[in-house]
Amino acid sequence: MVGVSGGIGSGKTTVTDMFAEYGIDVIDADVIARQVVEPGSLALNAIVEKFGPSIIQDDGHLNRQTLRATVFSDAALKTWLNNLLHPLIRVQMQEQTLAAGSSYCLLSVPLLVENNLTTLVNRVLIVDVSEVTQIERSVLRDKSNAEQIRAIMRAQASRAERLACADDVVNNEGSVRELRPQVEKLHAMYLRLSQGST
Ligand code: ADP
Repeated sequence: MVGVSGGIGSGKTTVTDMFAEYGIDVIDADVIARQVVEPGSLALNAIVEKFGPSIIQDDGHLNRQTLRATVFSDAALKTWLNNLLHPLIRVQMQEQTLAAGSSYCLLSVPLLVENNLTTLVNRVLIVDVSEVTQIERSVLRDKSNAEQIRAIMRAQASRAERLACADDVVNNEGSVRELRPQVEKLHAMYLRLSQGST
């Protein structure tokens, strides 16, 4: 199993989508984090009990932005929330990994390095871009401002810290087209490696 990580806006999704085109199963921690708080889930009920019904949007889904803002400045609440969600997310990641049928699979985790999850995987692939590019692309995608993105980046590992954990690096400073040969080469290597182990 290959762990994929990178800072906000580095291009993790763009890269894992390319691997998926080769039939590789991608387990995405961001997707799972949304699934565990779906309407009707035990986790969402617990969150409503703790934060009140105003944490729910009109459509019944969790207002993640309000929740993020609420726990941002309160360490105790943040710990409470992490203790609730992290075990659920981890179990789901393990279940989906076991269910994966491709020769190898990718585990895409934004905070792989920060949460010391590198031991869960056989290799670590980092999608790398400069901080300037990270901000530019995130602002465009999220329609947010540079200061908001910088605040998120400050809470994440630095570019150097991430690269220090990497077995493999995809450089995404150039165009999306330039990703293809890098992904192709890694896919061939991972297939070779997966023939020896899983
Ligand atoms: P992450 O999943 O790491 O947050 P995304 O894959 O969503 O990053 O990429 C962030 C944004 O940048 C997206 O809008 C994506 O379409 C865009 N993007 C990704 N790679 C490139 C690239 N090489 N050139 C231009 N835009 C890119």
